[in-house]
Amino acid sequence: MLTIKNLQARVEDKDILKGITLSVNAGEVHAIMGPNGSGKSTLASVLAGRDAYEVTGGEVLFEGKDLLDMDPEERARAGVFLAFQYPVEIPGVNNSYFLKAALNAIRQHRGLPSLDAMEFARHMKEKMKLLRMDPSFMQRSVNEGFSGGEKKRNEIFQMAVLEPKLCILDETDSGLDIDALQVVAAGVNALRNPERAVIVVTHYQRLLNFIVPDFVHVLSEGRIVKSGGKELALELEAKGYGWIEGATVTA
Ligand code: ADP
Ligand code: MG
Ligand code: MG
Repeated sequence: MLTIKNLQARVEDKDILKGITLSVNAGEVHAIMGPNGSGKSTLASVLAGRDAYEVTGGEVLFEGKDLLDMDPEERARAGVFLAFQYPVEIPGVNNSYFLKAALNAIRQHRGLPSLDAMEFARHMKEKMKLLRMDPSFMQRSVNEGFSGGEKKRNEIFQMAVLEPKLCILDETDSGLDIDALQVVAAGVNALRNPERAVIVVTHYQRLLNFIVPDFVHVLSEGRIVKSGGKELALELEAKGYGWIEGATVTA
């Protein structure tokens, strides 16, 4: 599904990614871990197509197509979901309005008919049930006054509604409490299936107790310095990053 070959990228004249090679197949969950500043968010941002990040080498293929050649909207239509791609704070605006437009754009891309208002409402209900969400949640204005856990829940809900092929979640270093961790984990687990792949970028070994990954990759100074199975996350939890050859721990 996703093939990353020798990917190099820079931010503000600083080389951050120094040759990332990674293959992700349908049905797999990959965790990207690594010390603070190792380039995890940069990798997610490059895959998202964020402006500030300049790709200086390598390639990324999504289902055989050049992902780096697509703008962020095209990536979304093609079935790539990035947790931070959709607005998280839209005062006074109803979540469902823009999710419906986004879902129908994706469906059109797949050659499927658009959902009308009734069909979309049914689709939303089904996803809320899947994620065990309280229906009152959707009545609230999008993310206004949401707690961290509620914002997370909304992000995961957007992901469930859009039914992406590839989900990329960047769980940044700050403020995921146990409630939010469990929201993310339950959501990702509910969406795991043989046709869908997930890349979880995380600073938290703990998250991987709930989302058990098929593969774990350790990033250090813009390179993958170690890859393994789920046991690698446990090893990191016990021993930190210092023991991995080539890993530089600065923070
Ligand atoms: P991680 O997510 O692993 O903590 P990042 O990808 O956020 O790491 O950052 C990697 C390096 O790139 C850091 O040295 C950081 O300071 C730098 N960096 C990231 N984003 C920017 C930016 N927008 N402007 C300048 N430097 C950045
Ligand atoms: Mg960081
Ligand atoms: Mg980060």
